[in-house]
Amino acid sequence: MPAIIQLPTHIANLIAAGEVVERPASVVKELLENAVDAGATKVTIEIRDGGMTFLRVTDNGCGMEPEDAKTAFLRHATSKLRRAEDLGEISTMGFRGEALAAIASVSRIDLMTKPTGALFGTSLHLDGGVVTQQSEAGCPDGTTIIIRDLFFNTPARMKFMKSDTVEGSRVTAAVQLQALAHPQVAIQMVRDGKTVLTTPGDGSLQTAVYCVYGRDFAAMAPVQSKWDGYALSGYVSKPTDARPSRNFQTFFVNDRPVKSRLLISALEEAYRNQLMVGKFPACVLHLTLPPHAVDVNVHPAKTEVKFLSEKAVFDCVHYGVLAALNKTPDRPDVQFSKLHREPAPEKAAPEKPAAQVAPKQNFFRTMTPEEFKSFSAAMQEAPQPKPQAARAAAAMLPKHIPETAVLHSPVMTPGGEIPLPPKKPVPPKEEKAAALPPLPETPVTAPQPEPPQAPREVPPEQTPETQQEGIQQALDMPPAPEWRLVGELYRTYILVEQGEEAFLIDKHAAHERILFDKLKANQETISGQTLLSPLAVRLPPTAAGELLANGAMLEELGFQIEEFGDSTVLLRQIPMDLSPEDAAEAVESLAADLLNGRREQKDTVRDELLHTVACKAAIKAGWVTDPQELYAVAKAVMEREDLKYCPHGRPICVSLSKKQVEKQFKRT
Ligand code: ADP
Ligand code: MG
Repeated sequence: MPAIIQLPTHIANLIAAGEVVERPASVVKELLENAVDAGATKVTIEIRDGGMTFLRVTDNGCGMEPEDAKTAFLRHATSKLRRAEDLGEISTMGFRGEALAAIASVSRIDLMTKPTGALFGTSLHLDGGVVTQQSEAGCPDGTTIIIRDLFFNTPARMKFMKSDTVEGSRVTAAVQLQALAHPQVAIQMVRDGKTVLTTPGDGSLQTAVYCVYGRDFAAMAPVQSKWDGYALSGYVSKPTDARPSRNFQTFFVNDRPVKSRLLISALEEAYRNQLMVGKFPACVLHLTLPPHAVDVNVHPAKTEVKFLSEKAVFDCVHYGVLAALNKTPDRPDVQFSKLHREPAPEKAAPEKPAAQVAPKQNFFRTMTPEEFKSFSAAMQEAPQPKPQAARAAAAMLPKHIPETAVLHSPVMTPGGEIPLPPKKPVPPKEEKAAALPPLPETPVTAPQPEPPQAPREVPPEQTPETQQEGIQQALDMPPAPEWRLVGELYRTYILVEQGEEAFLIDKHAAHERILFDKLKANQETISGQTLLSPLAVRLPPTAAGELLANGAMLEELGFQIEEFGDSTVLLRQIPMDLSPEDAAEAVESLAADLLNGRREQKDTVRDELLHTVACKAAIKAGWVTDPQELYAVAKAVMEREDLKYCPHGRPICVSLSKKQVEKQFKRT
């Protein structure tokens, strides 16, 4: 039998050090947290050779008495915790009393510390955790700690260190993180003699974020919300500025940087249907909650936390970010190229004009489910071969569509004549109150006279609902200047003028979003249309089985699918807004994703399908669009605050100010 012994303190410390002190960056994190806990308002970090040979942290905090200075290096020596109950209400960064002991055990340390107002300070030297010298010393208020020769006595650990450059960058990242965590502390970092970061410590997270991220930060949206005693503040990237990885997601819980799947998913949920696949939002978010609502004692480096109520935390972050995204007046500016004929930046690249696409008459998308039902009943009574059925339906359209339905009735003829605008120009009275794009900062000058060659489009009748909204919003903010549809560019972009601002609206992206939102708002089941003759779709053998196994879910999405043998399925019913040819495509992609196991979540499947439906049903770039339709799309974009991105994350509208144009013509 092996004899069991209790390990000597210095070995125990070395083991503990492995948990807390992984590399120079983790040393800096611990020392910075100590400075913050000591109430420092100014901290300087200096490193040489990636922090491996020399690492100094100087603070102007409360300092330590001579006895405390020595005790501080003992294991479980802390001034921040007295009783077990205190663990439930921790408000300091540290509390485990392990960091100094752990760091000391694997390095050589010089400490100078003086309590505020004391006559003398203390100087202390430790070698591998053993105090070798202590004396009185003249030094400024606060604490300076120098770590030399990190891991000199643990060659195994040393082997895991990367180059000085890599370790140094990690230290910088750790300092940046602390700077974002504590905007009230002025932090300076010097790396090999060069200052690499300075924050003013003015308490503003905005300044701290700017100091760390520089100009990138300007494009972020501010977050500020309260939820059930929880507070969320910080900055999030706009959907168009998403990053290719999660590296730019930074979360703080009660000022402590944490890693949390829960927080990530709450953040990303707010971007659902706004981001392209493989893109991730960036954020700097501070979540503040009562100390008892979070357990910080679940990880030696305290980078993980446990929440009392995960649901409350999720909601706080999710809705806080959502509100911030909906609030930002977010119409990217058009960028002019400097030289003539230089290609413009690809910022809001238009969808490839699909000029060659065959015309389509998707009549069913122009009707409400009720209208469709009565229509299809009539059709069943007098069955006709399919192509005529479509034409007959198109012929019936005017009788079935109320005036307000103009948005859902695309009339498109690829490359055909552009239809004349409606005759009676009626000034849209309600617009004054209801048009709500971002308000210009400067007072708007009187509306300019309209050029005669640009007749105003007839505004569709407003439904009581939109009037109501208009009034509601008019109460909240001063009226925005009237907007005017100028025309269409390249059969793709609707040009709108409002005061000193022009807007280019991607008609397809905008319409797609409008349809998507409409479909999504219709929460329960998606209404289906029974096909006059069922559609056979051939699929890879396993895919057909997968689809049939998910029949119930597909039914909720508006599909009715039957087995047809030989890996073919029969579509008897398809979602109301989808054309049969698009339905076959949608079913194939659904099957493929079900097979890949990507679509266990019903909501996601639903959203994906709605994307497909909206995309297929929306007016297309490059196609001739009825002016009323253009007007309806423009009106929705100009009046709805939430229309910013198509469901794939592309912008819907970009702005172009009079100033920008005048600058191009050297008028200013
Ligand atoms: P913890 O921070 O978990 O208490 P540490 O080992 O990091 O444990 O520090 C031990 C103690 O040393 C702290 O509780 C604190 O009282 C004291 N101390 C450490 N650093 C400083 C500092 N920069 N200024 C004042 N006191 C400090
Ligand atoms: Mg500490």
